[in-house]
Parts: sequence; C-alpha cells; structure tokens
Amino acid sequence: MPGRMDDRQPMENSTKKWVTVLGASGSIGTNTLDVMARHPEQFGLFAITAATQVDKMLALCMRHQPRYAVMASVAHANLLRQQCRELNLRTEVLAGEEGLVDVAAHPDVDMVMAAIVGSAGLAPCLAAASAGKRLLLANKEALVVGGTVFLQAVQQGGSTLLPIDSEHSAIFQSLPQDPATWQQQVEKIILTASGGPFRTTDPARLKDVTPEQACAHPNWRMGRKISVDSATMVNKALEVIEAHYLFGMAPQQMDVVIHPQSIVHSMVQYRDTSIVAQLGTPDMRVPIAYGLAWPQRMHSGAPALDFSALVQMTFESVRHHGHPERFPCLPLVWQTLAAPSGSTAVFNAANEIAVAAFLGGRIRFDQIFAVNAQTLEQTVFSTPDTLESLMALDAQARTVAGSLVQRWQA
Ligand code: NAD
Ligand code: MG
Repeated sequence: MPGRMDDRQPMENSTKKWVTVLGASGSIGTNTLDVMARHPEQFGLFAITAATQVDKMLALCMRHQPRYAVMASVAHANLLRQQCRELNLRTEVLAGEEGLVDVAAHPDVDMVMAAIVGSAGLAPCLAAASAGKRLLLANKEALVVGGTVFLQAVQQGGSTLLPIDSEHSAIFQSLPQDPATWQQQVEKIILTASGGPFRTTDPARLKDVTPEQACAHPNWRMGRKISVDSATMVNKALEVIEAHYLFGMAPQQMDVVIHPQSIVHSMVQYRDTSIVAQLGTPDMRVPIAYGLAWPQRMHSGAPALDFSALVQMTFESVRHHGHPERFPCLPLVWQTLAAPSGSTAVFNAANEIAVAAFLGGRIRFDQIFAVNAQTLEQTVFSTPDTLESLMALDAQARTVAGSLVQRWQA
C-alpha cells in the first residue's frame, strides 16, 4: 500500500494528548481543530483525514502541521503529497481505509475524533476502539451500523467512548457519573429535536422542496447529509438508536420532543420525576471541548447563553401534533429497534443512498421515506456479528435502495 506509516519516529512531546481527527475537512472536523488550537499546550494534532478535499487539507497541513494526512483515494493522496512536498511540509500522506485505520490505531495516538459522515467511518472507529483510544464519536452512523459489534470492540479494547452529538453529550452530562446506577435511577431520556427547516411546512408541499431548502437548518451549520437528515428527522431516528447503544436504554425508555430553539440539548428523567438537562447556545464546540477535556472542563470558544436576550423556549410533542405525516421517517426507528439488530444497519444504508439521490436531484424529498421503508421491507438478512458481515449487509441494503432509486428517478 502506498505510504505506509513509519512507526519508528518518536513523538517529540509526550505530555500532550495526541489527536487524530477523522473527517477533518468537515463541519465537526473544523470545529474540533478550532477547539484544539485554543489549547496548544494540551493537544497535538497527530493526523487529519478527508475524502476528496485536497485544497482544504493542504491548508490544514500548512496551518496545523499534522504528522499524517489521509485521503480516501490514492489519486487524491498523490495530489496532496505532491503539493505538501512543493511547500516542504513535513506531513506524510497516506491513502484509503488502510491509512484511516493506521492513523486511528497508531500507538502514539491518545484520542480519535470520529467525524467522518456515514458508514465509511465504521472501520477506523473499530480500529480506534480495539486499540483502546479515547473515541470521540460524532459519526453516529458508525454506531448505528456497528451496534453490539462496535460496543464489544470498545469493551475488549479498553477504549473510552464519549459522545459528541449534542443530544448525547447533554444526556451524558445529565446522567449520574457511575453507569452502573443508570438503570436503577433513570426513568427515561428525552432527546430534543429542533424540527428542522420544515417544522411548520404543509406536509403536502414537502415533495417540492429543494436540496438547498432542506440544507438550510434554522439553528446549526452542518454538513449536507446530516442537514437533510434533520429535515426528514432521520437524524433523530439515528440518534435514538445511538442513545440505545451508548446508554443501554430500552426503546420505551427513550422519547423525542420538539424544541425549536435548540437551547435544551436533551434531558434525563429520573425515577422521582426530576428532570436534569444540559443547556447552551447551539455550538458544537461545546460537546467537542467536553469530549476532549473530560472529566475536566475547558474553554470551547462558544458564546455563553444570554438569558436577557433569550426570548422563549418552547416544546411540542412530536407524536401528537400531526408530525407523523410531516416526519414519517421518525417512526421507522421504533420498527428497527424491535427487529433483529442488523435492521439499524439496513435503515442507515438505505438512508445514505436516499439522501445522496435527493442531493443529486434524482429523487424527491418525500421519496427518502419511501426508499427507507421499502428497503427495510425488502432486505432479508441474518444478524451480522463481524465488521465484514456488517459491511456486507450495508452493501446489500445499498443495492436494494439503489434499485428503488433507479425505478423512481425522473
Ligand atoms: P461533513 O460533510 O461536513 O464532513 C464529513 C467529513 O467526512 C469530511 O471530512 C469528508 O471529507 C469525510 N468523508 C466523507 N465521506 C468519506 C468517505 N467515504 N471516506 C472517508 N472520509 C469521508 O459532515 P459533518 O456535518 O461534519 O458530520 C460528520 C459526522 O458528525 C456525521 O456523522 C454527522 O451525523 C455527525 N454530527 C455532525 C454534527 C454537526 O453539527 N455537523 C452534529 C452532530 C453529529
Ligand atoms: Mg444531534
């Protein structure tokens, strides 16, 4: 493989925590580098990775001088390597899944920020987990696909898995410190959802919405895939699955409530009905800083909540205000959690295909639900228990979803 890593070079400063940022060119990746740059004495950048954005990666290499940079393809890696050489940068450039796995599991790495979008992030997540790294998980699809296989790798590798998704960070911050007490003390967890850009749109008009409208989230600036997921509420469905695995909550212990202002990031309801919540401005640097510094706290760069300017906080029931019609994808989560564990992987794969087809102008917004629901119906499988069987199921569901897209595309 081109550009394998050379393990012999020792790191120059062993008191710092060395971090690999998977998906460094994206929204979470950029925010992570912003937080880390505020604490140069505490964190060093070991490696950055991206799919295709060579220009952005070159700029990151110039600014942060990581030891390694990984591009998804050999062609993109060659381009970046050549540009780094021309500028005399010391960064070594690797390629492909092997490169991702290498920089996620390298002995010199302390923490891995998992911020690749989609199931493409599963293999490096598993590698980091098996190597016992602190794994900061933004890449919710990896856990939704990996499920118990993912959790086993975390346990067997002695890894610390910390959530970066704002809802799960909020829940983690609101839970008792000792996970052994969670089931005894907690009645349920309540995930908040902004409702996205179409919270008040007439459901009959959803078939006409454009990718630009779907990506215009009212509260958060995010990558395009998660923005579409927020508009369909698939994002909240994936987050319920994520919470199920992260916190060991049964389906009936998880609820979703719409909170358009995104101030309360999620809540834990205890047995005595007390509710503990985490609040703040909608800025992903807060959960990122929490994950990097845990169990300490450190500056994130986010503006604090200003109660004198906070006009109101409102909540709406997702189930009883006509939302099933507007957000038909959300109920699919309860269906997949009741089915054998591979169903969540099928749901995720179908949705990745459907969202890419919608963003590419090949299907309508409302057809995302149809692709997801019909792929779940049509994919027959036995429960996967290895990375290989999970990726085979992911590929199988993608084929089913792809043929549905082909049948419907205009
Ligand atoms: P993004 O699209 O901005 O960035 C995605 C990153 O993944 C980029 O660096 C891209 O180059 C890389 N990537 C994409 N496909 C790849 C592939 N096949 N192989 C290797 N790398 C690939 O996405 P984002 O908004 O930063 O989201 C990243 C993850 O974090 C997603 O799983 C998302 O659900 C989750 N998340 C994001 C936010 C947010 O505010 N953006 C909040 C919570 C959770
Ligand atoms: Mg979230």
